[in-house]
Amino acid sequence: MDKVMAMTSQEAMEMEKKYGANNYAPLPVVLSKGEGVFVWDVEGKRYYDFLSAYSAVNQGHVHPRILNVMIEQASKLTLTSRAFYSDQLGIAEKKLCDTFGFERAILMNTGAEGNETAIKLARKWGYEKKGIPANEAIIIGVEKNFHGRTTTIISASTDPVATTNFGPFMPGFSIIPYNDLSAVEEALQNPNVAGLWLEPIQGEAGVYLPDAGYLKACQELCKKHNVLFMVDEVQTGVGRTGKLLASDYDEFKPDMVILGKAISGGFYPVSAVLTSSEVMDVFNPGEHGSTYGGNPLGCAVMVEALNVLEEEQLMENAFHLGNIFREKLTALCEKTDLLVNVRGKGLLNALIVNDTEESSTATKICYELMHKGLLAKPTHGNIIRFAPPLVISEEQLNECVEIITDVVMNFEK
Ligand SMILES: *Cc1c(COP(=O)(O)O)cnc(C)c1O
Repeated sequence: MDKVMAMTSQEAMEMEKKYGANNYAPLPVVLSKGEGVFVWDVEGKRYYDFLSAYSAVNQGHVHPRILNVMIEQASKLTLTSRAFYSDQLGIAEKKLCDTFGFERAILMNTGAEGNETAIKLARKWGYEKKGIPANEAIIIGVEKNFHGRTTTIISASTDPVATTNFGPFMPGFSIIPYNDLSAVEEALQNPNVAGLWLEPIQGEAGVYLPDAGYLKACQELCKKHNVLFMVDEVQTGVGRTGKLLASDYDEFKPDMVILGKAISGGFYPVSAVLTSSEVMDVFNPGEHGSTYGGNPLGCAVMVEALNVLEEEQLMENAFHLGNIFREKLTALCEKTDLLVNVRGKGLLNALIVNDTEESSTATKICYELMHKGLLAKPTHGNIIRFAPPLVISEEQLNECVEIITDVVMNFEK
């Protein structure tokens, strides 16, 4: 049957071009199968996946345990809406709270929705608990942030590609430089600030790491000024950086964490906001929701995805292999003028190419990597993000370093 149905890569790409939207620029590879760290194209060629769907498939493609739970739950009950209780939601909320150390959780679907939920929580908390005058609440964001694509969220974006011709924008955001504590201190002087909102490591921007201690100091400043520290761990959470949360490197607990992507292992869109009872209790019936948010299928999948993360010790693996990967790529950077350096934590890394943001050098390198069986995507013209599934073995990682080395050493602009 496969043979009759099969489509060539060319046909699949043409069909998307003809009927779809042009809002992504995919590498020209058409995938039809995945397993662990590998994906296959429709012609049967195998690739290492070094993007992991932007860190959504930390547990590896089509993890058999998550697949089984999904099939089982999908054959029992998939959606109730929150008009009724389900036997899965409370278990999922407890799992999130126990795993990440928070009192309460609210489930949504996409990362953007998780961030929207956090914004609404912070604003309402600001009015009802902090006493900010009506409609005056400010949320502080940082430059080069990425929190999703809704009209409210892009209102805080500093990337013209994300904002041009999408106005008018939502008021109530104020943007400061990232990794700049004096800017935080100054911004929090305003008594109308309800939240400070940032990614602990800026993933989409190109894997920018803050100085050690920055995040913890942000939390302390927020506490001092009665402001909620809202940490977007949609990409960095769930073991990606070698810790459960990237925030754990600074040993502090944010007031709010937003999770998404890998909390459901790539099977189903699930996002969540974790916070205290004091904050969560500002929501009353009817004030916020989502038809699919907290559905039984997503809940069951998410619980098993977190079980897999723990039981297969994926964050420990990410920590260990991340160190090896950066060590080897640092050595490679020293061997060629094409590269500047490598930076990251755990298995969220970026290779910096010695060219401008406007250049296409990183894209060309990614094409060569693709031909050699490794899929990665540039973020901006000179940064390549390397983020394989966390189930990768040391042997596989070494093979990938060889592919990267081979491409880089033979690359001609
Ligand atoms: C991907 C991402 C989002 C948005 O998630 P979607 O599921 O695409 O809406 C938000 N924040 C961060 C940090 C992300 O990496």
